[in-house]
Amino acid sequence: MDFEIIKNGYLECDKGFVTLGRDMGKIVKIPVYCFLVKHDKGNILIDTGFSKNFEQTWNKRLKYYKPILEKDVVEYLKSIQIDYIINTHLHIDHCENNPFFKGAQIIVQKQELKFARNPKPYQKLAYPDKIEDLNYKIIDNNLDLFKDKTIKIIKTPGHTPGHQSILLNINKKDIFIAGDACYSSENLKYFCLPGILWNPDKIMECYDVIRNLKDTQIIYGHEEVNQA
Ligand SMILES: [Zn+2]
Repeated sequence: MDFEIIKNGYLECDKGFVTLGRDMGKIVKIPVYCFLVKHDKGNILIDTGFSKNFEQTWNKRLKYYKPILEKDVVEYLKSIQIDYIINTHLHIDHCENNPFFKGAQIIVQKQELKFARNPKPYQKLAYPDKIEDLNYKIIDNNLDLFKDKTIKIIKTPGHTPGHQSILLNINKKDIFIAGDACYSSENLKYFCLPGILWNPDKIMECYDVIRNLKDTQIIYGHEEVNQA
């Protein structure tokens, strides 16, 4: 199995959106990632990032978050057939390129799709203006995708109602793709909430899950990855 970390770019924003209550007013750049997993049974893209058209599509969001595009993920992957997309959640910086991967089945939690289609006012700007009808595989549980323990989808609600994280076993190495279940190691260290959230208690439960992972590389939602 191959695993590739693809850096879509950055979001420039107030750090108060990342670590609520810490360093508010400070402007930071946080990375946005997608992940490609090549498995015998298909190619999987975990999250699809923000699109190159963000200047048209982000509208009012641009006041708070400024995308800096480093790699157009669609262009970068144009020669690869993507069979599955797993969205950690449907915030715009994690799913905006979904419609461009024709033929991919999109694995998303039932609660997430429901919320994304009709977000509460406090999360409205975090989701795309319209969630398109695509080829969804809607799940409502944890899922061992190929029943071989290599790609395990784990429900981690809190940041959003239907957030999910992915535990990969790549060539015997465990890698936990947290998504926005935890933005950064600083959030984990200081029990810091993200600026956008749905349920703080459930976020803290997710942090406990992450703290209890043993011998696992943790990839946080918006923290630079050290690629050793
Ligand atoms: Zn998010």
